[in-house]
Amino acid sequence: MIQENLKAVEQVMEDSCEKAGRKRQDVTLIAVSKTKPVSDLREAYEAGVRDFGENKVQELLEKIPALPGDIQWHMIGHLQRNKVKYIIDKVAMIHSVDSLRLAEEISQEALKKGVEIDILIEVNVAGEESKFGVSPEEAPDLVQQIAVLPSIHIRGLMTIAPFIVNPEENRLFFQKLRQLSVDIQGKNIDNVNMSVLSMGMTGDYSVAIEEGATLIRVGTGIFGQRQSHQAVIQSVKGVV
Ligand SMILES: *Cc1c(COP(=O)(O)O)cnc(C)c1O
Repeated sequence: MIQENLKAVEQVMEDSCEKAGRKRQDVTLIAVSKTKPVSDLREAYEAGVRDFGENKVQELLEKIPALPGDIQWHMIGHLQRNKVKYIIDKVAMIHSVDSLRLAEEISQEALKKGVEIDILIEVNVAGEESKFGVSPEEAPDLVQQIAVLPSIHIRGLMTIAPFIVNPEENRLFFQKLRQLSVDIQGKNIDNVNMSVLSMGMTGDYSVAIEEGATLIRVGTGIFGQRQSHQAVIQSVKGVV
């Protein structure tokens, strides 16, 4: 099942890239494996997936040692400052940085452990009250402030678009995130590049790719439904 799902996702990725005149290798699929057992992740790994996304520290810490060492782990969920130290030297990227205080903690812990960490700034482009992330207006200042911190490197922006039925409804938000990244890149801030756009989930990744996503985060479309709809909503909000 997972293998077939991955094939279907791959086909959509290729079609969307072609439609947008983009290269397939410029888009990376992150398999969002939250709530799923290690056996599911292993199946995806065996089908070639090397990027996995999780949204809870505890779950990451359980899964990382149970799977091969060449996996790139992405922390995509809301991160509490007191938990940064547990994952700082274990993840390839933290997608969900939305405050200076969190970035300072990440920088300090990275320095302590002697690692360099790549992060994304989470932007709440749709202005949804339920979501984490800074507003598009606040993002440039936050980037400036984080840029001077040691051992932490801003690589781009991330957004969680609204839950929708028709992916077209999110096109505008993806365009907005991309424009914001172009604007910030234009400021030529030291230690900042805007090469990564982490946007697009099961319901809308084709549109996100058309609008410039370089990382897409697909869970349900690969692993099937998680327990309840409520759990899905909560986990996306970072509550669980
Ligand atoms: C759960 C989650 C996803 C994946 O959602 P699907 O709709 O299952 O593809 C992507 N990004 C984040 C931040 C998530 O929490």
